Amino acid sequence: MADLPTPDFSFDPSATGACVAGVRPYRNGSYRLEAEAIGSKFIVHNYGHGGAGITLSWGCAAKVRDLVRARLAASGQSHVAVLGAGVMGLTAATMLSEFGAPVTIYADRAPSETTSHKAGGQWAVSVVEFQGKEGELADIVRIAYTTFKQSIGKGFGVYERPNYTATRSHNMDVVLKLAPGLIPAPRALPRLPFEGHTHSGFVYQTLLIEPPAFLSKLQTDLQARGVPIVKKTFANKSAVFDLAEGIIVNCTGLGAMTLWGDTKMAPIKGQLAMLPPQPGLTYLYGQSGYLFPRDDHVVIGGTFEVGVNNEIADKAICQDLVRHIASLFGKAVKKPLPDNHIHHPDHAPIVNPAEV
Ligand SMILES: Cc1cc2nc3c(=O)[nH]c(=O)nc-3n(C[C@H](O)[C@H](O)[C@H](O)COP(=O)(O)OP(=O)(O)OC[C@H]3O[C@@H](n4cnc5c(N)ncnc54)[C@H](O)[C@@H]3O)c2cc1C
Repeated sequence: MADLPTPDFSFDPSATGACVAGVRPYRNGSYRLEAEAIGSKFIVHNYGHGGAGITLSWGCAAKVRDLVRARLAASGQSHVAVLGAGVMGLTAATMLSEFGAPVTIYADRAPSETTSHKAGGQWAVSVVEFQGKEGELADIVRIAYTTFKQSIGKGFGVYERPNYTATRSHNMDVVLKLAPGLIPAPRALPRLPFEGHTHSGFVYQTLLIEPPAFLSKLQTDLQARGVPIVKKTFANKSAVFDLAEGIIVNCTGLGAMTLWGDTKMAPIKGQLAMLPPQPGLTYLYGQSGYLFPRDDHVVIGGTFEVGVNNEIADKAICQDLVRHIASLFGKAVKKPLPDNHIHHPDHAPIVNPAEV
């Protein structure tokens, strides 16, 4: 097989938006997707999806819709509040409004300011726990993958892409095990088809979901359906209970750590180097870090700073990310990876920040 094009690794970390940091809403043990009744309020929690929120979004939204629909039928309540305008809030609101429920979204950050907007965008079950929820997660990945696949070419920023990896991808192997037949099995390659590469590897067929395009389309569609996004900060639970709506869907991501006092939540910071777009690159790549060529940027990432809860981008780390991937293509000098910053993306979790 002929080599695939080599990226242009020119990178100016000082350029506006060239270096980005976000915090994954990781939850020890499992993501939280369940309902609880408190007084007259019915709360559906949908948060803690770590590094896989984009990936799992539609599947979780379908579960939220089913819980809310059952409650609507049983209670006579009609209006639904969705807390959060990240991917979880917007997809849940979409599925709820699709069956006619009157929905209002409340959030202190607009979609373009959320962690969701910063995500790399690979469809992969990465940095998320699901202890005791294998069956539920199997449903979620099936619905999510199928929905994303059906949305290709419809303005949602979703593309089918091969992902070349140096070793087997834990994040994709999880899907093969949970939902056999959903995604194609990987192919072993005697050599990864890139300049500077001499070793064997694998190619997985997966999806690239470009978060800025995806969130923007969700927001436009919700607006067209008359679903408002109201800017509001909830300081605590009682502020949530003051809402007029009887049914409340909690999609506050890492915000649930303080808002709901969820001590299982744990931040995991990730940083991304954003290179200019290179339309000739139509593959994903992973080897102790990752490279996702998107329409807006070529994204290079793969850092995991466990327990770190700030969104301050570090230009030196972004430069290290680029240098590392460039070195694998023979375009930079190989240096050891900085401690505690770059981990193999395919061996990402299981981490337990509480033990770090
Ligand atoms: C560097 C990086 C790379 C990633 N790459 C990928 C990837 O390739 N694939 C993938 O699937 N996932 C990826 N992720 C993970 C993904 O970004 C998250 O899982 C996802 O964004 C979580 O979505 P969310 O809607 O739960 O949270 P958020 O996007 O954080 O949205 C939370 C919303 O709740 C609101 N909120 C919170 N608290 C309050 C409050 N008290 N009052 C009012 N509003 C509140 C916020 O304003 C916001 O609107 C990545 C994450 C990072 C950091």
